Amino acid sequence: MLGDKPHCTVVGAGIVGITIGIDLLQRGFSVTLIDPNGPASMTSSGNAGGFGVTEVMPVAGPGMVWRIPSWLMDPRGPLAIRWKHLPAIYPWLAHFLKVSKREEVNRIAGVMSGFLAECMTDSRKLFVDAGLAHLLTEKGALTVYRSRAAFVKDRLEWEVKQKHGIRLEYLNQQQINEMEPALVNANHGWFTPDWCNTIDPYRLGVGLFSWYQRLGGKSVKDEVVRFSTEGSYPDGVIMKSGASLASDRIVIAAGAWSKSLCHQLGERVLLESERGYNATLPDPNVYLDKQVIFGEEKFVISNIGNGIRIGGAAEFAGLDAPPNYRRSERLVEIAKTYLPKLNSQGSQNWMGHRPSTPDSMPVISPSEKYPHVYYAFGHGHLGLTMAATTAKLLGQMMVAKKPAFNPLPFHINRFSR
Ligand SMILES: Cc1cc2nc3c(=O)[nH]c(=O)nc-3n(C[C@H](O)[C@H](O)[C@H](O)COP(=O)(O)OP(=O)(O)OC[C@H]3O[C@@H](n4cnc5c(N)ncnc54)[C@H](O)[C@@H]3O)c2cc1C
Repeated sequence: MLGDKPHCTVVGAGIVGITIGIDLLQRGFSVTLIDPNGPASMTSSGNAGGFGVTEVMPVAGPGMVWRIPSWLMDPRGPLAIRWKHLPAIYPWLAHFLKVSKREEVNRIAGVMSGFLAECMTDSRKLFVDAGLAHLLTEKGALTVYRSRAAFVKDRLEWEVKQKHGIRLEYLNQQQINEMEPALVNANHGWFTPDWCNTIDPYRLGVGLFSWYQRLGGKSVKDEVVRFSTEGSYPDGVIMKSGASLASDRIVIAAGAWSKSLCHQLGERVLLESERGYNATLPDPNVYLDKQVIFGEEKFVISNIGNGIRIGGAAEFAGLDAPPNYRRSERLVEIAKTYLPKLNSQGSQNWMGHRPSTPDSMPVISPSEKYPHVYYAFGHGHLGLTMAATTAKLLGQMMVAKKPAFNPLPFHINRFSR
């Protein structure tokens, strides 16, 4: 206890950890965020800024297994695996293939649609309370396809989305051109009006951190290396500097770096860094009104600050391999086939570690072994989107309040069954 309040340590100050910190302060905890890097400076800093509340489908899908070889062979393709890393990710891949069956995809889409349906309400409230509503835009998103064949290949995804209540509207080439005149070669499309964006995910993260501090939250710039124990019971954390911090509760929210901390607690989890790349163009010379998703090549373009950000790719190479920025350059090359006037001068490349589970669902649960230790990581492609609702759900669990929806699908124990 710190004074009369229970103390909680949150490991990791990405968008998920910061948002949890804010929620716990509001529930009467005293909170310390620990991170060796600045707030929201890792994966949460450079993402595409989309609130993808329509993305109910897991990344794994029926028929995907047959598409993987051609993606891997194509140097401009959306997927890469560094072969040295293959043995390490085998259990993750095996689980990924297991959940790519149609029944599993429907089950996950059902769970995720319930979760994502809350995300904009929770996020809007958070940003308004923090004085950051000006960083949010609400214009929907446009997904486009060059060829009819690719459009048809993704049909199941759109059917599942529609079945789960996602609002969408088919657009032909002319309607796409009316919506986004700068685009060429975009012949089929879906408009999803409920998609939202932030104009800058890093500014949003830093703004939330500043509000966390104003609410009385504390922070320590250090890395948690292990847990201090009272007998076999973790009662705090020990940091790289040698400092320690005793805590009534501990939340692991260290994004893609969470796995080793879970293992220390004897917990099995399937979590991989799904490395994504982007290029931010300060003076693109083209105007897009809203986020555009390119369904065929699997990349997105969003408005960030005064420029645009072109992002995508999924590369499995672990946490430590150096980035291959050729991937960012390839995304720009493909984008030019849709936006011939695109100016890429001054482009800045970036790579981030999506914390990905094989079933594309986050882990939001108490530990199986220690009821005062909690997990909140594994948000994959949707960490910005899901942060506020994750914080709400975790906070409700921590004060033993009835959760807003069934938390069991998000439990860490699904990987040990
Ligand atoms: C190219 C790309 C585009 C994306 N686009 C979107 C999008 O449009 N919309 C969306 O919702 N999501 C998107 N994402 C995903 C999103 O960025 C992530 O899901 C999200 O940032 C994860 O947040 P996090 O807080 O869990 O992890 P992070 O932001 O990575 O934060 C984890 C923190 O934990 C810290 N940490 C690690 N180990 C320790 C330790 N031992 N002790 C203390 N601290 C530690 C790290 O320093 C880091 O600051 C995208 C990702 C990529 C790569």
